[in-house]
Amino acid sequence: MDLFEYQAKHLFREHGVPVVPGDVCSTPELAREAARKIGTTVVVKAQVKTGGRGKAGGVKLAESPDEAFARAQDILGMDIKGHTVRKVLVTEAADIAEEYYVSFLLDRADRAFLAMASVAGGIDIEEVAATNPEALAKIRVDALAGVDDAKAAEIVAAAGFPAEVADEIAGVLTSLWDVLVNEDATLVEVNPLVRTPDGRILALDGKVTLDENADYRHASHADMVDTADTDPLELRAKELDLNYVKLTGEVGIIGNGAGLVMSTLDVVAYAGEEFGGVKPANFLDIGGGASAQVMANGLDIVLNDPEVKAVFVNVFGGITACDAVANGIVGALDLLAAKGETVTKPIVCRIDGNNAAEGRRILNEAEHEVIELVETMDDAARRVAQLAAQA
Ligand code: GDP
Ligand code: MN
Repeated sequence: MDLFEYQAKHLFREHGVPVVPGDVCSTPELAREAARKIGTTVVVKAQVKTGGRGKAGGVKLAESPDEAFARAQDILGMDIKGHTVRKVLVTEAADIAEEYYVSFLLDRADRAFLAMASVAGGIDIEEVAATNPEALAKIRVDALAGVDDAKAAEIVAAAGFPAEVADEIAGVLTSLWDVLVNEDATLVEVNPLVRTPDGRILALDGKVTLDENADYRHASHADMVDTADTDPLELRAKELDLNYVKLTGEVGIIGNGAGLVMSTLDVVAYAGEEFGGVKPANFLDIGGGASAQVMANGLDIVLNDPEVKAVFVNVFGGITACDAVANGIVGALDLLAAKGETVTKPIVCRIDGNNAAEGRRILNEAEHEVIELVETMDDAARRVAQLAAQA
């Protein structure tokens, strides 16, 4: 999970990385009030989970509370690279003598972490890496050894930070490492890390990516989840513990196993070309134990997508055999009917694998109006694309 800058800075502060305090505001009035409280020149910053906010006009200085109101009014509601600005961070503006860059990130290929640091911060670090690679120091960090004072000094030396700030930056690096380790982050980045004219070092921006696999160790991380931009069907699927991704087509897809579902998306998209470009509407992997309840939850989500015109249930029976899955499908339709959501969209089923014959017998005997059994995956894909196109 990526964090907003204000959330990243909150974690920075807790672990001793120097930041300027500020207020998160959702209205221009609140931004004016925050600026009044600060009492000096402030910076009003769009809170969106993407970089390049400065270039996009999402970071503005304001000399007075009324100016902070005006800048917040400009920035709130802006679209920055597809992200709508719903909040701004108002902080005391820092004077900048120099802008640096520091980060730690998980380097999976190297089974280690990577420290990156540069005295050429402030701008896009990808640009520095591309045009001036020797200005970006890259130092491997062993996961067990971590970043102690000696390692921090090594990074500082490699990046060539000025002598007068070397110790302070080394301190920032060990604190930033504490953020990474103690919060179970896979990325912590500060761009720019600035030196002020009076010699202080401050993290003016912050980017943190948390490892969701470690959420169980951090009750407080749940408070940082932001769902304002999440698709409502995806939200609902998450609550139901379903592995669902909304796409843009017309054919609802349900399968068991991520690999099977991905290839189902491919065959449906391919078959759909013949019917005017019909496409899959979603990815949904219901996993191994396709019980009636799980199947009902899955159908519920997929059928509630207004774009969906027909559904393709593609199951390969394994440990959970096809007869159990077939009972799951029939039971799911009963469960939905009992909820008053009688299914009218056609459902094309292809079931194969362990106990396939018995599974097909169950579906055939159910004689359900909307269910159509097709033997092979390719034929089923063609049929469901045709039904979606006709609807
Ligand atoms: P980004 O563009 O999304 O990376 O947003 P940043 O938070 O890094 O801000 C972009 C740029 O705005 C920085 O590189 C600074 O040059 C400038 N900036 C941000 N905060 C301040 C501040 O407190 N004072 C001054 N003078 N400039 C700032
Ligand atoms: Mn930045």
